Amino acid sequence: MQIADRMGRLGTESAFEVLARANGLAAQGRSIINLGIGQPDFSTPPNVVEAGRKALADGHHGYTPANGIPELRAAVAADVAQRYNAEIDPDQVVCVPGGKVTMAFAMLMFGQAGTEIMYPDPGFPIYESMIRFSGATPVPIRLYEEAGFSFDADEVLDQIGPATRLIILNSPANPTGGVVPRAEIEKLVAGLARHPDVAIMSDEIYSRMTYDGLAHVTLLDYPEIRDRLILLDGWSKTYAMTGWRLGWGLWPAALAEHATRLAINCHSCVNAATQYAGIEALQGPQDAVAEMVAAFDERRRIITDDLNQLPGFRCIKPLGAFYAFPNITGTGFDARTLQDRLLEDVGVAAIAGTSFGAQGEGYLRFSYANSVDNIREAVRRIGDWLSAQNVGPASTD
Ligand code: PLP
Repeated sequence: MQIADRMGRLGTESAFEVLARANGLAAQGRSIINLGIGQPDFSTPPNVVEAGRKALADGHHGYTPANGIPELRAAVAADVAQRYNAEIDPDQVVCVPGGKVTMAFAMLMFGQAGTEIMYPDPGFPIYESMIRFSGATPVPIRLYEEAGFSFDADEVLDQIGPATRLIILNSPANPTGGVVPRAEIEKLVAGLARHPDVAIMSDEIYSRMTYDGLAHVTLLDYPEIRDRLILLDGWSKTYAMTGWRLGWGLWPAALAEHATRLAINCHSCVNAATQYAGIEALQGPQDAVAEMVAAFDERRRIITDDLNQLPGFRCIKPLGAFYAFPNITGTGFDARTLQDRLLEDVGVAAIAGTSFGAQGEGYLRFSYANSVDNIREAVRRIGDWLSAQNVGPASTD
């Protein structure tokens, strides 16, 4: 057999590999605390589950329109109107099986040999993987720890060249928990006026998870780029629905049809019952979301404080999502070695920053989608292990 070259360019998401290793160790009877996986440790709210069950009982068993049932797309538009005070056309919403699909479609639509796509580094690993798969050249956008893992808008603008087709932004971010300040976004948007052919994909899948009273800044706030903005959001994180596979993309009018055609070619439609569950998630009570975010907020404070007590660790307080991304250079270990040693020696699963791009060296990602007790125990185990390795006291800077 001779498969296509592009398969050799496809990357992966190491979180799934670490999860498999962690599960393997747990199956051998080892005590494993999993702070590796990026999914809420909550159940989908019962009213949402019930809506899915009812849809099946009501006979919603067939194909639906490829871009999603009209009621679902209308519910997305209403949710956007309510959250952002922005009007969007439901016909520009394309519902897909998870946020990743909007991402893949954007890369397939813009990427080809000879073009460049810019993406955050450290960032969600699928960006770089899918850019390479598309044939485009990935151009990393550097994020700065000292700026709360924001980019520098001037630097981003300087990197844009004639081959640039698409810029990917992600705030709140995986893996850093960083939130890009409004001023930086505004500077970028203003500068993009000089590059009218460059599209923007804003991955806002963590839009409901911001802390310390910070309001989410959506790229929808900028009408001047609306005709070249792809907005990615979905249900996976907000409603603890990762396994249902449901996401939405808002596409420029000129591209919605292309996205729908890709859907027809790839998966036909999202499964029908899931779409009804998605409507209930958006229209039903939102208390479960508020409770989950409050729980994440408490854990965020605990994990950051505890990690900062560890020798060789330095962790800024993340302002969004559910990840902490401590700098571990003071331990003397590189990210991959520390990831492996923590999993094998003390049973704590975290992900090496290098799984999220070259700029992730010197960092580990901890997902705090786990109980306070487990978080505390995990950090305690790491502390004991670091002491046994003779890693010195925590830095005070
Ligand atoms: N975007 C980011 C930044 C993510 O972290 C994730 C999942 O981890 C996704 C998109 C994909 O979400 P979904 O599970 O809906 O495909």
